[in-house]
Amino acid sequence: MQLILLGPPGAGKGTQAARIGAEFKIPPISTGDMFREAIKKQTPLGEQVERYMKAGELVPDELVLGIVRERLAAPDTAQGFLLDGFPRTVPQAVALDQHLTEKGQALTAVINIEVDPEILVARLSGRRICQDCGEVYHVVTKREQKPGVCDRCQGPLIQREDDYEATVRNRLAVYARQTAPLIAYYRETGLLMTVDGAQSIDDVYQAIVTGIRQRVG
Ligand code: ADP
Ligand code: ADP
Ligand code: ZN
Repeated sequence: MQLILLGPPGAGKGTQAARIGAEFKIPPISTGDMFREAIKKQTPLGEQVERYMKAGELVPDELVLGIVRERLAAPDTAQGFLLDGFPRTVPQAVALDQHLTEKGQALTAVINIEVDPEILVARLSGRRICQDCGEVYHVVTKREQKPGVCDRCQGPLIQREDDYEATVRNRLAVYARQTAPLIAYYRETGLLMTVDGAQSIDDVYQAIVTGIRQRVG
């Protein structure tokens, strides 16, 4: 099963990805997480992408496609995968189509999580993530048990630099300009499935699972 999670920053893609991946036994793949990991480890890729991420701009397509191709070559993707945060531009979507065709795979569904911009700003400004494992929290809607400490791995919770308000606004504009066109792109292929992302985390999850089950029969 080859799935894509599409939606603006703050829609809840990362929050849903781990559970959906576990449900359908496919690895969740987040390009944002891979880039953050590369920055933390100070790899050459990390150094190349850091300034784009800090500014809330997209990383150039060729850098993104490089890590995605490498990741999709790993054996754990043989039975499928769940992409979170990729593709984000039409050229990335075209390259993914080509790559899948070469591998004899096809997309199963593209799950578009829809949320109003005002809600997105509140979600992003309250988002906290675990520095060690990337688990996602929110100061109001998804609190950790022990203040400042990850429930899963005890790592420290931090605010992403690109979640500061000035950058958030730019990221929403970048989404509208460069990523939102993918909604029409995938609607045309008949793969698009839209989910109301303003519901509770559990209800969004249920809507996604139900939608996928209907699609795969
Ligand atoms: P994305 O990966 O799409 O950018 P996240 O999954 O990181 O989004 O979620 C953004 C923020 O919103 C996080 O702080 C998360 O805890 C919170 N959040 C996610 N889904 C919901 C929801 N359905 N209701 C309320 N808060 C949510
Ligand atoms: P969010 O879901 O909150 O937007 P992500 O973790 O998916 O955050 O992405 C964080 C940043 O990483 C983006 O703002 C962008 O700079 C970079 N990035 C992640 N995925 C891509 C991609 N597919 N194409 C270009 N840039 C990307
Ligand atoms: Zn953690």
